[in-house]
Amino acid sequence: MSNVEQTLSIIKPDAVERNLENNIKEMFKNNGFSILKEKKIQIEKSEAEKFYKVHETKPFYNDLCAYLSSGPIIVMVLEKSNAVLANRELMGATNPIDAEEGTIRKKYGISIDKNSVHGSDSIENAKIEINFFFED
Ligand code: UDP
Ligand code: MG
Repeated sequence: MSNVEQTLSIIKPDAVERNLENNIKEMFKNNGFSILKEKKIQIEKSEAEKFYKVHETKPFYNDLCAYLSSGPIIVMVLEKSNAVLANRELMGATNPIDAEEGTIRKKYGISIDKNSVHGSDSIENAKIEINFFFED
C-alpha cells in the first residue's frame, strides 16, 4: 500500500524577505520531498483570515493574518510518503526556541510569529489548504 501524500507548505514573509526561498526548498528536496506546484504571491488580509479561520478565536489571530498578508509568500504542494507528518517534523516546533536541531524553524525561524514556514497539520487539512491556493 502506498502512503504517498501531498501537503501544503508556505514560506512565510520573514523567510522570503531574507531570501531563504532556495535554502528552504533545498531542505525539502534533501529530505525527499518533490515540489509538485509552487507560486509566489501576496495575499489580501481577508484571504489570510479565510486560510487561518481555524484560529479565529485565538488572541494572535489578527496579528497572524496581518503578518501572512504583509509581503510575498511562496506556496507549494509537497509530495512524499507520509508527507503531512514528515513536513511537520522537518518544520519543527511552532516556536523556534523549542524546535529541534536540523529543522527549518530551528535554522531560520526568528520568533513564534515569524517562524518561516507553514505546513498542513492533517491529511484532511492538507486537501483543504491545497485546494485553497491551487483550485483549478
Ligand atoms: N502563532 C503565533 N502565536 C502563538 C501561536 C501561533 O503567532 O502563540 C502563529 C505562528 O506563526 C503559527 C501560526 O500562528 O505558525 C499558526 O499556529 P499553529 O498553532 O497552527 O502552529 P503551526 O501549525 O504553524 O506550527
Ligand atoms: Mg497549524
